[in-house]
Order: sequence, then structure tokens, then C-alpha cells
Amino acid sequence: MPEEFKLKIAGDVRVRIAPSPTGHFHIGNARTALFNYLFAKKNNGSFVLRIEDTDKERSKPEYAEDIIEELKWLGLNWTEGPDIGGKYGPYKQSERLNIYRRYLEGLLKENKAYRCFCTEDELESQRQYHYSQGEAPRYSGKCSQLSKEEIEKCLKEGKPWVLRFRSKAKKIVFEDMVRGRVEFDSGLIGDMVIAKDLDTPLYNFAVVIDDFEMKISHVIRGDDHLSNTPKQILMQEALGIPQPQYAHLPMILGEDRSKMSKRHGDTSVLSYRKAGYLPETLVNFMAFLGWNPGDEREIFSLPALVKEFSFEKVQKAGAIFNSQRLDFLNGFYIRQKSNEKLAELCAPYLIEAGLIRKEDVLSAELSKIISLYKERLKKLSEITDLADFFFKDKLVYEKDLLKWKTMIYPEIKDSLSLSEKILSGINKKDWTKENIENILMAEAEKSGDRGRILWPLRVALSGKKASAGPFEIAEILGKEKTIKRIEEAKEILS
Ligand code: GLU
Repeated sequence: MPEEFKLKIAGDVRVRIAPSPTGHFHIGNARTALFNYLFAKKNNGSFVLRIEDTDKERSKPEYAEDIIEELKWLGLNWTEGPDIGGKYGPYKQSERLNIYRRYLEGLLKENKAYRCFCTEDELESQRQYHYSQGEAPRYSGKCSQLSKEEIEKCLKEGKPWVLRFRSKAKKIVFEDMVRGRVEFDSGLIGDMVIAKDLDTPLYNFAVVIDDFEMKISHVIRGDDHLSNTPKQILMQEALGIPQPQYAHLPMILGEDRSKMSKRHGDTSVLSYRKAGYLPETLVNFMAFLGWNPGDEREIFSLPALVKEFSFEKVQKAGAIFNSQRLDFLNGFYIRQKSNEKLAELCAPYLIEAGLIRKEDVLSAELSKIISLYKERLKKLSEITDLADFFFKDKLVYEKDLLKWKTMIYPEIKDSLSLSEKILSGINKKDWTKENIENILMAEAEKSGDRGRILWPLRVALSGKKASAGPFEIAEILGKEKTIKRIEEAKEILS
């Protein structure tokens, strides 16, 4: 990071995450939130949550709730926000309309903004003209020179209008904490619409006012906003307000290296949470979407990230979203959990699948079942397919599944009868995995091919091609259920 940024950080660090509640909070927003959080924490600064809901049609209260819920779940706690208030509130743009109005009126009065009465048809034909010339469309400036009388006349006639900002054509240069020196020719921007009316400001205007009013020192956001920055700088200059320090985070790319989008599936934080990724996984994973510690370390808790994070190690190049890595990290964090905790985390999936009831959540049996899958689980949701057979009354499977190698049905039936006889001989109080294993293994070894005993038994107990071993399953099922399942398997064979 260049020296001058370091100096700026010496002041109060105030950063913000400013999501628009127009859809579920997605991984890109969450990554931006994380980097803001880390930077704030690292510098003992403030982390502000602002809900940018000026787009009345697309903003929905349930999405605003989702933003809050997911950020809380990730543990990215803010110091000011709509739910907790703060010195610079309100923190929802829809509640700040009087503030924007004041600034809009000021700009109008100083003739830094003007009313534009052009119709949509006129604007469209201008756009088409620019396209035909191979240029980016921009406003012709037609209404910028209207006289007072002309404006009065249009207003009297009730002509609809929008408010345009008088842009200056100049070179805009700023130093970005990630990208370094960035230059734009603002002549390409043209006079932009900043409000549909005095009570309906648009993003680029509202964001400038809010960042100023909320004393934001650093604007850290995705680089899809890079082209908005010169527009915002132009407005800051016109308003005579300071420019925050900008940091544009690299784009998140799908595995095919194209910009991550809906095409890559549902990337909402909610969908990852529902699939059974842990918050510590996502935090660790997202940190590496644009940052790395500069060495081989891969596992970072949130506090560890706070310690390590710096913009010097944030890359410019797009960051690839590697789902294998996400699964690897989740497996790692799953294995860090105690069996009891993991049972608690898996329980909602089993309840939803109708396999257990709420009352069963804290049972020792459940922790035991879950512990069988701890090594293998990549996402919590997988537990229902892996462990459903423990909870079912009757298993349904193809009879061929009971077949080991070349065994024929009568042989399988005999094998099951033998297991049944042996297991029936074990006292309930001696019904432990170890005892079951010792006794059955002795018998299985005798046959020269253990599979002849163990395979049909395991399938009878689980109904699955792959599962945990028959001894641990039998222990958990208990004697009665174990014998019952062997009987049922024999019925399936006949
Ligand atoms: N509301 C904007 C968004 O959700 C925030 C842009 C910004 O951080 O300035 O993308």
C-alpha cells in the first residue's frame, strides 16, 4: 500500500457495507462485508451497515431481514446499523429522504443540477444515435440550458422531469487501495440523472451523501462499482465534500472464469447455510476470494483473519470460486466440532426430513449416529441421505443388494440366519459394538470370506450399498431392531 494511504488510515476508520435489499444476500456482498469488517477491526474502526433501499420497486423488507440474518450468522457484527442505531442514522436510505432532498435542493439552487424534461422517446433516439456511432450513450445536454421561463412553462404544463447533475468534462484520477492509480475521462459520463424527483434520489447520488454524512473514511466494495466512482467523485467535488479512500475488490469468477452470476447456481448466503456449510467455513473461504496470507496457510478463523489481513495482499485479478475448496474447508470445520455439537447442527435437517422429532435432538444416540459420519460429511445436509435408515421403521431396497459376490439367495438367507442366531445369543446388557464385532468376526473369519457374513448383514441393517459398518450400526439400532431387520431381509429374499 502506498505511504499516503497509511497516513490516511491514521484517522478514524469508518467503513460500511451498503447492500441493496433487492434479492437474497449473496456471496459477493458477504465477501465485501467481510473485507470491510476485517479492515475496521484491524484499525479499531467502525463498521456501518446501511440498507440501500432507494429502489422502491425492487427493494423488499424480507431481503433487508435476510441481509441482517446472514451477516449475524457469519459473525460479521456491525457497530452501527438500522437494527442497533448509531450516531449517524437512520441507516436505511428510505428513512433519509429529507436529507437527500436538502442536498438536491442545494444543487438545484446553485445550478449544479437541473431539471430535464426530455421524454423517454427522445432519450431513446439519442441512445440509438450514440450506439450507431459506436459510442457509449450519454445525455445531449438539451435541457441544461433551459431558461427560467422555459422551465416554468414546462412545470406549469405538468411535464414530467428528472434531475440531472451537471457533469464537468475532465480527467478524474484517484488512488485505489487495490488497483493503484485509476483514471477516467468524465466527458464520457455526460449529465447523469441523480434523482427522479426531490424525494426519489438514485444510487450514485444517495451513496455520496450517505458516505459523507456517515463520515465514511474508506469505501471498500466490489469492482463492479469501479465505473461509479468517477461519478461519485464528480458529485463530491460539486458539493465540496471530502473524497473517501476507495478500494475496489476483485471480481469473483466462477470455475469457468466468467463473472460469477446466477448462471453459476444460487450463490446466496442463505443457500450455503441451508446446504449445511458452517459460518466459519464461509468466512475462511471468502477471505481467500481476493486475499491470501502470502504463504501456505489455509485455515483462518475470523480473529486470525483480523490479525493477518491487509490490503497489501489483496489482489487485482479476479478471484476464482473453487467449490472443491469450499467443501474441503467445510469438512475440516465439521471435524472440529464435538459429536454433541455436530448432532445439534445436523438435527434440523433430520427434523425437516421427518426422520426425528425435536425432542430427540439432544439424545446420546443421535450424537453416536452423527459421529459415524463425521469424517465423511462435507455438508450438514448430507446427513439425511447417509443416516436416514437409523430412523426408519422399515427399509426398502432391492433384494439383489443383499448379494455378496456370487452368493445365491439360499446362501444369503443362511448367512443372515446365522448372524441372527449369533446376535440373539448376546445379552442386551452386553450389546456393545466390541462384543458384537468380536463374536461376529470370529464366525465371519471361519467362512474364509468375511463378506459372506458381513455384507448381507450390513445391507439388512442399513438398506444401503454403502454405510457405516454392521457392528456400529447394530449397536445403535439395539438388539430388537437389529433382529427385526434381519428377519425383514429374509422376508425380502423369500
Ligand atoms: N447498494 C450498492 C450495492 O448493493 C452498494 C454500492 C456501494 O458499496 O457503494 O451494490
